[in-house]
Amino acid sequence: MSFGAPKGEKLRDRSLLTPSLSMNSLSLFKDPKLSTISMLRKVNKLNEDEKVQFEEKDFCQLCGAEFKKFLKPRHHCRTCGRSVCSKCCKGSGENRICDMCITEDENKELKNTYEGVLEEKQNQLEALRQNIISLDKRTAEKKQQLEINKNNLKEDLKKKLKETKAQLSNEIEKNETLKADLEMKREELLKRKEELTNIEYNLGKKKTFLKTKKEKLEEKELELEKIRAKLLKYQEGG
Ligand SMILES: [Zn+2]
Ligand SMILES: [Zn+2]
Repeated sequence: MSFGAPKGEKLRDRSLLTPSLSMNSLSLFKDPKLSTISMLRKVNKLNEDEKVQFEEKDFCQLCGAEFKKFLKPRHHCRTCGRSVCSKCCKGSGENRICDMCITEDENKELKNTYEGVLEEKQNQLEALRQNIISLDKRTAEKKQQLEINKNNLKEDLKKKLKETKAQLSNEIEKNETLKADLEMKREELLKRKEELTNIEYNLGKKKTFLKTKKEKLEEKELELEKIRAKLLKYQEGG
């Protein structure tokens, strides 16, 4: 809505306006020149059914132009009751509205629009915030689960490592025993071999000794045979 809008449209819009005391009209109190009007307006608006009280001024309350009969007639804004010249208002009769009220309405509308946008953005922000919270929560849960999995894996690995180590240790021990056994048996075998060599050596010695004895025995037998033959010859001859 702007000052340049078609008259008819503007007037129709006017009829929909609810004269009520808004934050915008309260802000008028900041301007000392307008405070009286606003106060008046406030009083007027206390009763919705009551008509706006017209102000009877000699000068336009917006531009300050002096009113003159026919040349510059005085008009009254039906919203605030200000005395205004024709340049400072729009519409006619019961639909007349001063530029100040138009600006005020436009501000109100703008404010409503911005408030709407603000609310929408705030809602979006809140939704985003909720999303972030839920995401954070899920992330935390995932992290926790991951931590649990990690710990479980670690425990499993530790257990398996311990088992493998024990197994390996066991096998090493077994191997060690086997090795010791083998070593013992080897030593025993060596000893036996040595004994066998000794026995063989002794046997050889005995064999040689026996052979010598046999030879001597044969020699002696031969001698005995000779003696026997001599004896026989002697007996025959005797
Ligand atoms: Zn004026
Ligand atoms: Zn007005």
